[in-house]
Amino acid sequence: MIIMKFGGTSVATAQAMRQVAHIVNLYCDRQPVVVVSALAGVTDTLVALFAAQRVKNHSGIDDILRKLSERHLSVLADLLGEEQDSPTQTKLVSLLAELERVARLSPVAESDQPRQLDQLVSFGERLSTVLVAVALRQAGRRARDFDARGFLFTDGQHGAANINFIMTNLATTSTLQPYIEEGGVPVVTGFIGSAPDGSVTTLDRGGSDYTATVLGAALQAEEVWLWKEEDGIMTADPRIVPKARLLAAITYREAAEMSSHGAKVLHPLAIVPVRRPGIPVRVRNTFKPEAAGTLITESVEPPRSGVRVITAIRDLSLVAVEGLGMTGLTGVAAEVTGLAKQARVNIVMSMQAASEQNICLICRSKDSEILAGALRSGLRERMAARLIDQVRVEDNMAAIVVVGEGMRGRKGVAGRVFSAVCGAEVNVSAIVQGPSECNITFLVQKESAEDAVRALHVAFDLDMSSESVAIGGSNDQ
Ligand code: ASP
Ligand code: MG
Repeated sequence: MIIMKFGGTSVATAQAMRQVAHIVNLYCDRQPVVVVSALAGVTDTLVALFAAQRVKNHSGIDDILRKLSERHLSVLADLLGEEQDSPTQTKLVSLLAELERVARLSPVAESDQPRQLDQLVSFGERLSTVLVAVALRQAGRRARDFDARGFLFTDGQHGAANINFIMTNLATTSTLQPYIEEGGVPVVTGFIGSAPDGSVTTLDRGGSDYTATVLGAALQAEEVWLWKEEDGIMTADPRIVPKARLLAAITYREAAEMSSHGAKVLHPLAIVPVRRPGIPVRVRNTFKPEAAGTLITESVEPPRSGVRVITAIRDLSLVAVEGLGMTGLTGVAAEVTGLAKQARVNIVMSMQAASEQNICLICRSKDSEILAGALRSGLRERMAARLIDQVRVEDNMAAIVVVGEGMRGRKGVAGRVFSAVCGAEVNVSAIVQGPSECNITFLVQKESAEDAVRALHVAFDLDMSSESVAIGGSNDQ
């Protein structure tokens, strides 16, 4: 069995859905299970619908609902051509009617908003599965849409729910296995699940990757394939580094390190379910199905330089808590991170030097003022006692992440990183390397990020011409 997840661009139009059906047909003897995202742009549109609902912008709501309805109905009409499929038409129309009803509900109290948002955005995947199942049936497959709320159970943390693996594994097998054994292709909603109270939860943006690997583990699939609109995982973003190479393979750990730092390769948790059972994951291009893509697996020969990938995360801010009186004071770090948690701000990186005179938290720029405000008010007493001098914010930062399992135990990698960066005349504001030694992360001004990535790409022999491993050369597994 192979789990195949198709992202938003892969199901953006009727044409793209026919391509999905073509791919599923190519592998129909391997018991494909299909997971789909919402049509490209639909999740963002649903988030906008939620914003319109919150401020009671009725004409905005009307406008968005009309566009969503036209788009999905026209894809259906295109897929069906001259044919009629009344049950599917009825299903789509009733989903659109339910969406309209939910969108017209009154705005709720702030504490209930994440739940209402999840309910709205869940329609993206609920609508897309119905359409993709039609595309598969039109291509001759036996296929049916499955709503993952029936078997993907979560803890109810709206917006970024955690999976209850025990319940999910059991329910997934008993729901999907019989249909697969009868030769059917289940088309499952990515991104959504249900909370213990029965409400719908989502797995954070890009969550369909996670759904795919959760199903892969539950159904003990041979492999999980993530079909996207890129060829696979590259040594760097090719828009920054034109000589970036496609990687034939990377390790689970490297993929996790890259995603957890916010580079939009995979959902940060997608590796979790597949790593222990050792289920290989492949990132492939829907529009180039003949290419093998990138394999993600347990162990992969490290590149000569030890470094596999260089990424940059933009739009970060540094929030520093500083004070000469902080030295030797216990509990400050816990207080600082506790305040970040209360303010619901996610910390991307954090560091404290041995002088103990500052604690730096790196967060998304959109959160920096919220975080600084929370720290200033929460640390008021410490500030009044002159133990803490100030909470300082520096916006316009970027993190450069150098990833590679081959770095572990190897001498001179950090030296090479920083001499390359220095050679590019880029100033480094903060550095983190965890004991895993799988990545070195450092902070620079946003304007210097691209120069730093390019300099590192050359310094670690990652440029296309400088390594004999050709694109896809060892990529024929
Ligand atoms: N539709 C959701 C999103 O856009 C989930 C996904 O695409 O994986 O974030
Ligand atoms: Mg999407």
